[in-house]
Amino acid sequence: MPVTINKDTCIGCGACCGVCPVGALSMDGDKSTCDESTCIDCGACVATCPVEAITQ
Ligand code: SF4
Ligand code: SF4
Repeated sequence: MPVTINKDTCIGCGACCGVCPVGALSMDGDKSTCDESTCIDCGACVATCPVEAITQ
């Protein structure tokens, strides 16, 4: 299962986009978005998000 990003919690810091090993994360305006077909569910972004907006 790909990760879920809580758009209400995301502060748009971009940190998650930099740690994804497969480039599944990108910024959509001021919020992060996940390409669900690319995500390999590694969990790196979950651990990186400072506001716990990403869940596995
Ligand atoms: S769980 Fe891993 S592969 Fe999926 S979006 Fe996060 S960092 Fe990328
Ligand atoms: S690390 Fe968290 S707060 Fe920062 S852009 Fe990603 S989901 Fe949003």
